[in-house]
Amino acid sequence: MPERPRTTPLIQVTHLQAIHLPEAGLWLDPPVAKDRAFVSHAHSDHVARNRTAICTPLTRDLMLKRGSAGRRTEFLTPNPGEVMELDGFALRLLPAGHVMGSAMLHITRLCDGAALLYTGDYKLRRGITGEAAELLPADTLVMETTFGLPRYKFPPAVEIAEAMVRFVNEALVAGGTPLLLGYSLGKAQEILGALRSLPHPVMLHPSVAEMTRLLAPHLGALPACAPFDVARAAGHAVILPPGAPQIDELRERAACRVAMVSGWGLDKAAKYRYRVDEVFPLSDHADYPELIETVERVKPRLIYTVHGFTREFASDLRRLGHDARALGQEEQLDLSL
Ligand SMILES: [Zn+2]
Repeated sequence: MPERPRTTPLIQVTHLQAIHLPEAGLWLDPPVAKDRAFVSHAHSDHVARNRTAICTPLTRDLMLKRGSAGRRTEFLTPNPGEVMELDGFALRLLPAGHVMGSAMLHITRLCDGAALLYTGDYKLRRGITGEAAELLPADTLVMETTFGLPRYKFPPAVEIAEAMVRFVNEALVAGGTPLLLGYSLGKAQEILGALRSLPHPVMLHPSVAEMTRLLAPHLGALPACAPFDVARAAGHAVILPPGAPQIDELRERAACRVAMVSGWGLDKAAKYRYRVDEVFPLSDHADYPELIETVERVKPRLIYTVHGFTREFASDLRRLGHDARALGQEEQLDLSL
């Protein structure tokens, strides 16, 4: 992509309830329904009953399955790499490496080539399942900074997968029932992928089973799965979403060993906060070094941070010489300057 003169005006970004690109008439992951929105992935904090939703075909399928689209939502689902023109802008969806179907949005103003990249939730390192993220240079970068503190650096997924298999085997050998807690979409399939060589059947909570059935063509080999039955769970590895009501019942019936699977597992107190026996820091978000790498590869003139440690990460970027702001908090920044 040719470098544009640094005088090209940037694509305007505002933040009223949600991220908005007024020139393109487009909202980015609005939590409340809008006329036209880009939906980066199907997690519930990113979907709303928008009139027109731009997303990948897989995110559309997941939204329909989860009942998170409006009855009259019209979907525009460009395929990966396809360029879609909309009101003077070229839109391109790039793989985000977050959950299955997740995408970043790269948008270019056709009259002068000014470009913006919105990451949505993403990660650059490879997970156990799913595709690798792709980045493109842009003048403006709107990036999520969930783990935007230097202490967040995740171990490789293969190491965490080996530790999970050890945890499951040790629990089963001791006559216990290992419970692995992870969100139904994304984390649960990563856990299942980690257990792919397990010789015992795995039991899936119905919400995990439903998502896994839909995503199965993209997941590769999986372990044998047994139907969910609390009364017969003993002796199985069980995957459930955190907060599933059956967890307490399972704990009462069987000698359970419970593990939470979450990036927040890097926090020292996580095991006590989640009240579990083990925590595995498997995350589908970028860690701090990946956030820095993203800025280096996209080479933006202006960076907006959203989600998590927005002000801390924007402040670190400014120390590195970048123009970076926590989106929606510019006033506070002006005051602090
Ligand atoms: Zn997400």
